[in-house]
This record gives sequence, structure tokens and C-alpha cells, in this order.
Amino acid sequence: DPKQFEIKPNLLAGKVILVTGAGDGIGRETAKTYAACGATVILLGRTVKKLEAVYDEIVAAGGPEPAIIPLDMKGATKSHYQAMTATIIEQFGKLDGLLQNAGILGVLSPFEHIDHDSWNDIMQINVTAQFMMTQALLPALRKAPQASVIFTSSGVGREGRAFWGPYAVSKFAIEGLAQVMADEYEGSTIRVNVINPGATRTTMRSKAYPAEDPNRLKTPADLMPTYVYLMADDSIGVTKQSINAQ
Ligand code: NDP
Repeated sequence: DPKQFEIKPNLLAGKVILVTGAGDGIGRETAKTYAACGATVILLGRTVKKLEAVYDEIVAAGGPEPAIIPLDMKGATKSHYQAMTATIIEQFGKLDGLLQNAGILGVLSPFEHIDHDSWNDIMQINVTAQFMMTQALLPALRKAPQASVIFTSSGVGREGRAFWGPYAVSKFAIEGLAQVMADEYEGSTIRVNVINPGATRTTMRSKAYPAEDPNRLKTPADLMPTYVYLMADDSIGVTKQSINAQ
């Protein structure tokens, strides 16, 4: 059971892992945990100040020096992702792990009132940008002896729910993308899985459930066994799975 996986220092030593949305919430905690397990993490996100704060925390804790990639996935194009890949190969020689964690919720609303621009933004950040980035990173992922790609879903990515509109649709799409990739790369060095974090104490969750008491929710730290398991060599051979972190 990945939820019971024991996190040990040096478990990810020598690995280079890119985390998107690394400045806040689950991504921030995961980046710090991967670094605590010895990985060199590449912190990607749109707010540089937040990424710098995570960088400082990792260095202060004695982790390997991270890299920062400030990038807004809303506007980034194929050439941004290709340039990023070239830099990663030049600096690190490979990419062992990719956690596609960044995402936006948008505004919950009845189907009838879904705004087309908001729909497009959510699809761009939660799906299209992740497809483009993952595709561009393949040459770096292929240079690792074993590579793990993780996408992030949600309960509403498996069963639709009223008012969750484009966010739910985007999570169904990411489950599909992960399955297609996993099927194609089966038997190769690249494994592809999905994590559903479940209700977790972050800004996104409080936006979706403003009246809820956050102290009753699991924290990002509670999810880390699953996030570390899927990046560690222990999960080699595990692919095309959609796993609950709680
Ligand atoms: P947060 O909103 O706390 O963090 C999301 C992160 O993604 C932020 O660091 C944010 O950057 C970054 N991000 C958003 N848009 C962009 C963009 N355009 N370009 C680059 N980075 C961007 O969310 P959570 O930590 O709660 O969620 C993480 C993942 O888990 C998401 O995919 C979410 O859908 C999923 N999830 C979360 C659940 C929960 O209960 N929290 C439940 C189920 C799924 P910035 O800080 O600069 O805004």
C-alpha cells in the first residue's frame, strides 16, 4: 500500500525531479520532501517569490541545491518547453521524475453559466500545457535509467459532480492522457501514473469549500508516502495506475 510507504533519507539520492506548482500547497511540500530524500528538485511555478522561498528552505535544510524555472503555464508555448528541456539536459544530463502538480480550480458554477474564457484557461493549464511540457521533456526523461511521470487528478476526475464544470473535465482528461501515455510506454523505462490527493488543506481546497474547517483536513505532509513511493525505485514496473494518496 503506497500510503504506508516508509520515507527514508537518500531514497531519491542522485535523482533529478521536476515539480510543477512547486511554490505552494501540495507541490511545495512534495518538492521539499523529494529534496529531503536526496533529490535535486527543479521548482517550476508562476510566482518567483514563492519558488525562492522553497529554494531557501531546501538549502537551509541541507538538501541538494534546487533549480528554479519561473513559468506561467497559461502562456507558455512549445518553444519554452523545448528550451527548458535543453537546459535540463545541459545542467543535469537527465530527468528521473516529473510531477505534473500545478493546476487551477477556476470558479465553481452551474453548467449553464460556465464561461468560455475560463473554460479555456482551465483546459490550457490543467491539460494542454501538461501535454506540451511532458512531450517536450521526453528526451530528458529517456536519458534517465528509469523515469517516473506523475499526473494529478481529483475525485471529480473519476466521477462528475454538479458545479465542478471545466475543472472536473480537465481531470478526466488528465486521467486519459496518463493512460494513453502509460499504454504506449509500457515495457520502456518510462512509467506513468496518476495521484488523486483527496481533500487536502491548501488554498485551492479552501477556495472550493470556504465554509469548511481546514483543521479537519489532511495536510500535504500526510500525502507524502504516495508521492515518494511513485518517484522511488520501489515503484519501478508500476504504470497506468490511478492512486489515492489518502
Ligand atoms: P494550490 O492552489 O495550493 O497550488 C497550486 C500550485 O500550482 C501553485 O503553486 C500555483 O502557483 C501553481 N500554478 C497554478 N497555475 C499555474 C500556472 N499557470 N503556471 C504555473 N504554475 C501554476 O493547489 P493544491 O496544492 O491544492 O493542488 C495541487 C494539485 O492537486 C492540483 O492539480 C489540484 O487540482 C490537485 N488536487 C488538490 C486537492 C485539494 O484538496 N487540495 C484535491 C484534489 C486534487 P502560484 O502559487 O503562483 O499561484
